[in-house]
Amino acid sequence: MVKLYNEFERVLVDEDTIQSRVTELAAQISAEYKDAGSIVLVGILKGSFMFMADLVRQLTIPHYVDFMSLSSYGTSTESGAVRVLLDLRADIYGKNVIIVEDIIDTGNTINYLHTMLNTRQPASLKTCVLTRKEDKAKGLPVDYLGFEIPDVWVVGYGLDLADRHRTWPFIAELKPEVYQ
Ligand code: 5GP
Ligand code: MG
Repeated sequence: MVKLYNEFERVLVDEDTIQSRVTELAAQISAEYKDAGSIVLVGILKGSFMFMADLVRQLTIPHYVDFMSLSSYGTSTESGAVRVLLDLRADIYGKNVIIVEDIIDTGNTINYLHTMLNTRQPASLKTCVLTRKEDKAKGLPVDYLGFEIPDVWVVGYGLDLADRHRTWPFIAELKPEVYQ
């Protein structure tokens, strides 16, 4: 425990702040889709699992949960081309779909995913993203955003570095020497 903490520069977003923001996002989504019948939330594994779990438990509209797993060809902290490792179980044709992602850095992943899922002709397709690195992402606007964060490597609340640090209830910034 102590050793893990030593890798943090600081806690960027604490547990209470995350939970309040998730409550707001769930309320906003519930209000905007209240006449939609139902929605499908597509979580991107593994990073979105905690955000997804907290978000869906506060939705007040009918919803379904599905997951995809993607892999980047890049190195552990650099973005590359995207590959689908696990696809959706269900068809999203004619459905109201929201992609649930942990983080947007360059925007490559979410742009690829958005384009790919759109070819399946959902009734609507939006994005709900926990964190976005300020001023970096190009292209696609985010419909529901948790937090703007600085351009540093963050872990916790689903986010990892080589599968470590994923299960903290807060988001922390790693010391640069840990990931560089
Ligand atoms: P993109 O550059 O395509 O927007 O982001 C690619 C992926 O890199 C994200 O989905 C996420 O898995 C990972 N990523 C980018 N920045 C960070 C970060 O600061 N922390 C963690 N844990 N993952 C990140
Ligand atoms: Mg990810």
